[in-house]
Amino acid sequence: MTWILPLPPQPFLHIAGHSELFAVRRIWCVGRNYAAHAREMGADPDREPPFFFAKPGDAIVPALADGAVTVAYPPKTTNLHHEVELVVAIGQGGSNIAREQALDHVFGYGVGLDLTRRDLQAAAKKLAQPWEMAKGFDASAPCSALLPKAQWPDKSPRIELDVNGQRRQEAGLDELIWPIADVIAYLSQFVALQPGDVIFTGTPEGVAPLVPGDVAIASVTGLPELTVRIAAAEAA
Ligand code: MN
Repeated sequence: MTWILPLPPQPFLHIAGHSELFAVRRIWCVGRNYAAHAREMGADPDREPPFFFAKPGDAIVPALADGAVTVAYPPKTTNLHHEVELVVAIGQGGSNIAREQALDHVFGYGVGLDLTRRDLQAAAKKLAQPWEMAKGFDASAPCSALLPKAQWPDKSPRIELDVNGQRRQEAGLDELIWPIADVIAYLSQFVALQPGDVIFTGTPEGVAPLVPGDVAIASVTGLPELTVRIAAAEAA
């Protein structure tokens, strides 16, 4: 087989303690998977369950070995928000996966930011339009190195985000409305999950703006940390 244009670069994530890379295929996201965040977005978590959306696979920005990435302030927004999320990396695909077997399909875990152009999202919601331009823009998914699942012993992990040394978001992963196994089981009813798919599992309350110069540190107990520096917007 020959190609008329060069093959595109393969999106990837680093793996803690390994030189091999994890090839990223697709980025799936869960919306409103923490009740307090659903409420801060004006939704009622008792009436509306979480749901899925997606970003292009090449929106991933892999953290370097020291956990640091720099992301330029994106175009077409004046209200870029952080959403810290546990990221689940799928190692074994499948459709209609039973929740009891769901964690067998996981390769490992990381922590990421679901960067969101909140102003575009609000406009899209108002007009009942899709969310892609609010969620799926270039470099909208910075993510830490992955930790292989067997190396994540913590049984009561917490998820946290500090911006410029101030705590912005914090929750226990036991507050997820759909726990990890449910997310994998439900998502696999809609699409055939594939090795390399990564799932951003939803954000706790406290989403807020980021501006150029901000330094956001995202962490989940026991997982590699992620430090995101927001740089000035690139010249148009
Ligand atoms: Mn999110």
